[in-house]
Amino acid sequence: MTLSKKLIISFIFTIIISISITSFMSNTMINRKFDSYLIEEQKIKFERIRNEINNTFIEKGTTISNEDLAEFAASEGIYIEINDVNNKMLCHSNNKNLLNRGMMGMGNMMRHHMMMNQNGNYVEKTFNLLDGDNIIGNLVIGYIDNSHLTESALIFKDTLSTAFVISGIIAVIVGLIVSVFMSKSLTNPLVHITSTANEMRIGNLSSRSNVQTNTIEVKELSNSINFLAETLEKQEGLRKRYASDIAHELRTPLTTLKSYLEAIIDDVWEPSEEHLSILMEEVNRLTKLVEDLRYTFESSEAHPVLNKTKINISRELENIISTFKPLYLYEKYSLESSIEEDVEVVMDSDKLKQIIVNLLSNAMRYLKDNGKVMVSLSNENNLVKITVEDNGIGIKKEDLPYIFERFYRADISRNKETGGTGLGLSIIKNLVEAHEGNIYVESEFGKGTKFIVELPRGSFIFD
Ligand code: ATP
Ligand code: MG
Repeated sequence: MTLSKKLIISFIFTIIISISITSFMSNTMINRKFDSYLIEEQKIKFERIRNEINNTFIEKGTTISNEDLAEFAASEGIYIEINDVNNKMLCHSNNKNLLNRGMMGMGNMMRHHMMMNQNGNYVEKTFNLLDGDNIIGNLVIGYIDNSHLTESALIFKDTLSTAFVISGIIAVIVGLIVSVFMSKSLTNPLVHITSTANEMRIGNLSSRSNVQTNTIEVKELSNSINFLAETLEKQEGLRKRYASDIAHELRTPLTTLKSYLEAIIDDVWEPSEEHLSILMEEVNRLTKLVEDLRYTFESSEAHPVLNKTKINISRELENIISTFKPLYLYEKYSLESSIEEDVEVVMDSDKLKQIIVNLLSNAMRYLKDNGKVMVSLSNENNLVKITVEDNGIGIKKEDLPYIFERFYRADISRNKETGGTGLGLSIIKNLVEAHEGNIYVESEFGKGTKFIVELPRGSFIFD
């Protein structure tokens, strides 16, 4: 059963129950009060009749005739009988039998009343007739015991019941409208949230639930769904990013190895022990990288896992440069350096290597004839500054703001030949920032490019 159907049914059920209870309670209570009021009225009426007859009796004495009483009794709808002190009947209204049998012969009002109210019993009440304090006889009034229920009283009761029925029907209709409206306003957002969840299920993680509701619980549910979607979307993005970063990171050393091997095959580079150990180092780096990736996957954070140690960054840089030198020479480019000696920093040496290797392969990739690259290292105020400057093709002004973005490549046609994916700089930026450093670029199109990496020397807790 749908939620709205359930809500409507229980709402209507509650209304019907409460209307029935209310009408039953008030009906019985009003009826009871009303009945006792009518009985009280009847008492007053009988007292009045007694007074009138008492006066007439004192006035006329035994000369009162049956006819005198008959007319009076008929108009009041009762039977009247007067007895003397010895209980001997003096006169009566002559309608006892009619009244007893519940038949005609009484006043109009009584007749009508008898038709509506057939099941009353005939009863008699005796009153004393007094002259001052002396009892001079008694008066018997005969009537139907429910005769207090006059026509207007019955109409009143009927009207009351009708009023309850009508108000019940109105309440049910109003309740139906209100409950339909309420259940719609409750279920519509839920339907919306469900469709968002279904969208997410089929992979559309960018869909969000945007419900307009003032029901706190529903609002919270909607927020939770959105939060879930956002988290899933982020994780999905992260997963893709990992995949492409891995591919990129594997490709750079593989390309290097390939170039070396090609050089050996072409006989331009001798497979000496020294050269082969350079290749070995690349293979080791690849192995290490694969190991690192496993750790990166284990930590769910977007930030790379850093394995910080105290390193002599000057020496590390020299090493990297010497690895690259043959490659540059092979392409007839020159690679020079100006390195401040024995600068020590606390950082992840593999990440440093990744940063510099990426910058140097970029520089080489985008060099022209007579290409020249200059690497420098300086240390100012606990800030290590590494620059990689080339006289290559440069970067257009309009591309500069975007080159650190993932997959952004400035000159796609040229990049097609060189096979870049536009990931290198975004990875570098991520690594530099993980070390709380900064990376900048200065470039003039057609003249050359300069990358500046600033790294804090880090705290030497091991000293
Ligand atoms: P890869 O993912 O293989 O590194 P890529 O080198 O194209 O591909 P990035 O290293 O991120 O990607 O560089 C982004 C873009 O910035 C490059 O496509 C290139 O257009 C431009 N660029 C980077 N370094 C230089 C440079 N030294 N000289 C000229 N343009 C550069
Ligand atoms: Mg690159």
